Amino acid sequence: MKKRKVFVVSGPSGSGKGTLLTRLFRLVKGLSYSVSATTRTPRQGEKPGQDYTFLSNEQFEDYIKSGKFLEWARVHDYLYGTLKEEVEKKLNSSDVVLELDPQGALQVKEKIPNAVLIFILPPAYKDSHDIEKALKELENRLRKRKTESEEYIKKRLETARKELLELDKYDYVVVNDTLPEATNILLDIFNKERDRLEKI
Ligand code: 5GP
Repeated sequence: MKKRKVFVVSGPSGSGKGTLLTRLFRLVKGLSYSVSATTRTPRQGEKPGQDYTFLSNEQFEDYIKSGKFLEWARVHDYLYGTLKEEVEKKLNSSDVVLELDPQGALQVKEKIPNAVLIFILPPAYKDSHDIEKALKELENRLRKRKTESEEYIKKRLETARKELLELDKYDYVVVNDTLPEATNILLDIFNKERDRLEKI
């Protein structure tokens, strides 16, 4: 039987992660997206079962208790989780991409050691080895917008700091400097990792 692979993609908002993944799905055959569960409410245009499975807090807690999640985490003010059943079902016929925050990504790596962890960085983080500089740039960008509250900026910077500290635990870091370039890098990663599997 053909071996299947799990790819986990993370990245702060503003990294262009969503656009990159849309391009990837158009270009790579035999890839499925794992639809997560969340307690946040749908945004405009989001479809239940397609973007997320939207659950109440009680439902989510029940799912945790009955062991339905491969991983779950609190991100900002909501709960997010990957359903075991969703991943297993999709792995029957394709490789699977999970879009998770770093807490979730590391839980998956622990349970599925050959999962491939990819971190997408926005151009502002080009010097991601210099965390303070990268954070300063992000702060400047947020302040320039003049629409974000001080509380929001603080929260975003806190999350970004935590995320940047986890970077070295990822297998690949892709800086989304230009979309075509980042797409090609991502394509190379997927091709290399799938090729590696087929040779085992
Ligand atoms: P959003 O609410 O903007 O769709 O997602 C917020 C954050 O939650 C993003 O960083 C996204 O990657 C993360 N996320 C989405 N689904 C899951 C999940 O199933 N598990 C974990 N741990 N994080 C998730």
